[in-house]
Amino acid sequence: MYEGLIRKYRNYLDVQDDSKIVTLNEGNTLFLRLKNLPSAIGLKNVNVYVKFEGLNPTGSFKDRGMTMAVTKANENGSKAVICASTGNTSASAAAYAAVSGMKAFVLIPDRKIALGKLAQAIVYGARVIAIDGNFDDALNMVVRLSETEDVTLVNSINPFRLQGQKTAAFEICDALHRAPDYLMLPVGNAGNISAYWMGFKEYYENREIANLPKMTGFQAAGAAPIVENRVISNPETVATAIRIGNPASWKLAVAARDESKGSISAVTDEEILVAQQLLASQEGIFAEPASCASVAGLIKKASAGDLETDRPLDIVCVLTGNGLKDTSVVLKDELKIDVFRPDLEQLRTLFH
Ligand SMILES: *Cc1c(COP(=O)(O)O)cnc(C)c1O
Repeated sequence: MYEGLIRKYRNYLDVQDDSKIVTLNEGNTLFLRLKNLPSAIGLKNVNVYVKFEGLNPTGSFKDRGMTMAVTKANENGSKAVICASTGNTSASAAAYAAVSGMKAFVLIPDRKIALGKLAQAIVYGARVIAIDGNFDDALNMVVRLSETEDVTLVNSINPFRLQGQKTAAFEICDALHRAPDYLMLPVGNAGNISAYWMGFKEYYENREIANLPKMTGFQAAGAAPIVENRVISNPETVATAIRIGNPASWKLAVAARDESKGSISAVTDEEILVAQQLLASQEGIFAEPASCASVAGLIKKASAGDLETDRPLDIVCVLTGNGLKDTSVVLKDELKIDVFRPDLEQLRTLFH
């Protein structure tokens, strides 16, 4: 039986005591080759895969980091965890705190979090506080609180978060028996791109793989501090999970980009929503807007001719979170659904 990523990748993770492991059997997520979308966007000679992290226990990749962060907090006898969150970190922290018997405190930017994520934090039993400010303000507050109060910070500046998250790179390499040529993913606080790069490098050093991918990150155009090389004080994007103006792992992300000869560029909200729609209608996969920045970026690079397609390529797009968390983006103003009388004749017109 699969028992979560700490037990699976134990040799790569620093955990002392098995009895202290806090897990919901996260990881081991769906890895799938896209069947229709690549040719629909004019890509030939390319295998495009998605790693659907939305199928983790709380619906995002945050569970990979949280199993490690909460396990270490548990090892250290901590009784409570705290985080600032655009939504998914709070959902994950709340669930892992619940199963380990710890308290969870989450600070969210006021009114800017998807309702599905808020519902998760509440139902898992976290103490949820909305801050009249943005994510960066909330993060600043929890860092300060964790310095003076008896509570463990589980944002991605907690180094154990990235340790857990790097296992997604291992899973991709285990599936492909190599690293992909390009790893494409959204960049918000920039922990994940840093964690993946760490994972690929560790597998390379241990001779599990003989190549390394180009780390190819995408920020939302209204929240693209790394692309613009400046702090964005009022980040705005429909992709709330990457609505971040001053990423905590900024330096690590730039190092991942440069060491891998990759890139970090911007995609617009419109491009993100087109990608979300395409992925759902062509492939049957519903990912949340932030996740779809990876596919939007793929489409953009493909149409700009930025990918060397003279040889067969493996491209992996990371779909970081589940679309069910944020249905408002799809349902928008009102439900655009036709209402029919329960009348067979009228319904039969559908088929003609
Ligand atoms: C957290 C999150 C991101 C951004 O990841 P970072 O590590 O902050 O760059 C992207 N997508 C989703 C769904 C997330 O929850």
